[in-house]
Amino acid sequence: MLSFEKQRRELVEMLKEEGIIKSQLVEEAMLSIPREHFVPPHLREHAYSDTPLPIGCGQTISAPHMVALMTEELRVEPGHRVLEVGTGSGYQAAILAYIVSKKPQGHVFTIERIPELAYRALRNIAKCGQNIRRFTTVVVGDGSRGLEEFAPYDRIIVTAAAPSVPRPLIEQLKPGGIMVIPVGSRWSQILQIVEKGYDGRIRTRNSIPCIFVPLIGEYGWRQYDEF
Ligand code: SAM
Repeated sequence: MLSFEKQRRELVEMLKEEGIIKSQLVEEAMLSIPREHFVPPHLREHAYSDTPLPIGCGQTISAPHMVALMTEELRVEPGHRVLEVGTGSGYQAAILAYIVSKKPQGHVFTIERIPELAYRALRNIAKCGQNIRRFTTVVVGDGSRGLEEFAPYDRIIVTAAAPSVPRPLIEQLKPGGIMVIPVGSRWSQILQIVEKGYDGRIRTRNSIPCIFVPLIGEYGWRQYDEF
């Protein structure tokens, strides 16, 4: 079997050839953050398959192409304050932390509703080194309400499917900010790119169809049955 590092390089090359990875920063982040730290031990040999994998508690780590595409769509920059809703394994948060940490004022706040996953994510993120760890804060709670305490944010990324764009997230986005969020029903969602103009006006554009686990909470789905 190829080493994890070699598998990671091959995956990144493939995502570049497919036109999913476009920017230097996203390429660097995907090459620098080891996905094998974020998948359960018995699935480690599949860490570089371009597919979602189970992480326990009925949840998943998103496929690498989805992480790359969402990060590109987010147009995240060094120094940004980013909110991620749906920490899961912590992989997407670590990718974002790699980029924002290139300027000292950058930070990633990531919120997860299932405490067990949040604690595990924190440990996974710590495996990526002090720098990534220092630029990331993991919070347990209902991220459909956003995270008022550290708002406003330059960027917001939601990695669970919402029935509509939660109002608190729009309010917590800075003017000039961008949010990426899957919106739709159980089996069909569209990745939406929501931009808040400097005049406060909201413009929404559809990216690609996608399938995520549900955003469960006050401004998401009330429970799994409803999804
Ligand atoms: N970004 C993650 C990663 O890199 O591994 C994958 C996220 S997984 C597809 C979606 C996550 O959203 C799950 O861990 C789920 O528990 C979480 N979630 C669902 N509703 C939530 C809510 N209201 N607030 C916070 N997290 C939520």
